[in-house]
Amino acid sequence: MLLELINVEVIYSDVILVLKGVNLEVETGTIVALLGANGAGKTTTLKAISGLLHAEDGRVTAGSIRLDGRAIQTEEPQNLVRAGLVQVVEGRKILPHMTVQQNLMVGGTVLASRAERERMIEKVYGYFPKLAGMRQRVSGYLSGGEQQMLVIGRALMAQPRLILLDEPSLGLAPLIVAEIFELVARLRRDEGIAFLVVEQNAKIALRIADRGYVMENGRIVLT
Ligand code: ATP
Repeated sequence: MLLELINVEVIYSDVILVLKGVNLEVETGTIVALLGANGAGKTTTLKAISGLLHAEDGRVTAGSIRLDGRAIQTEEPQNLVRAGLVQVVEGRKILPHMTVQQNLMVGGTVLASRAERERMIEKVYGYFPKLAGMRQRVSGYLSGGEQQMLVIGRALMAQPRLILLDEPSLGLAPLIVAEIFELVARLRRDEGIAFLVVEQNAKIALRIADRGYVMENGRIVLT
């Protein structure tokens, strides 16, 4: 098992109980969808896994989160990135004043050498030929779909084994959404990368997923 959540409880600001015992598994090289209404706790689940909860005064107060069987709930996010776990946060947080190429380089800072980063960049451009034609473009001017590709490409730069992908379809046209999900399926097939995808669009997420969970009010209610 690549990732395992066992009875995970999360509390914000010491008082707001948001996850109330979440159990969830992602096997190596699989795509798992996490579905549910607004406010169910999906984003909180991803942040608990990636270690980004601390930045929002949130804490895992019970249960355990394991990567390759090792408890990670107190790990720093940068160590988790080195261990192969990367989150693509909701809302396409690019560095808008930097070029496409610079945004990708930032994603590769955990790689050992510049040569390795350059090799990865070419690989990312192979998956996203559209971005290859825009290397020197200031990324703030890219379309929503292109920015979504850029944040996924930036995550790929760290050579992850598991990508946590938060609402990739948000505000995008159906054709672009289909293109992005096709790419996720291809990355799993060709690179063996596992994905935990949070989506409102259940239909498209379940089309490519091996398994899905439905979350309601801080609990998994259906697998
Ligand atoms: P959405 O689809 O709207 O993003 P979600 O399922 O991802 O919803 P979360 O963002 O995880 O849900 O939020 C779950 C609950 O936790 C909500 O009630 C939200 O108000 C609360 N919450 C989220 N972040 C914080 C925070 N930093 N401090 C306090 N409460 C928070």
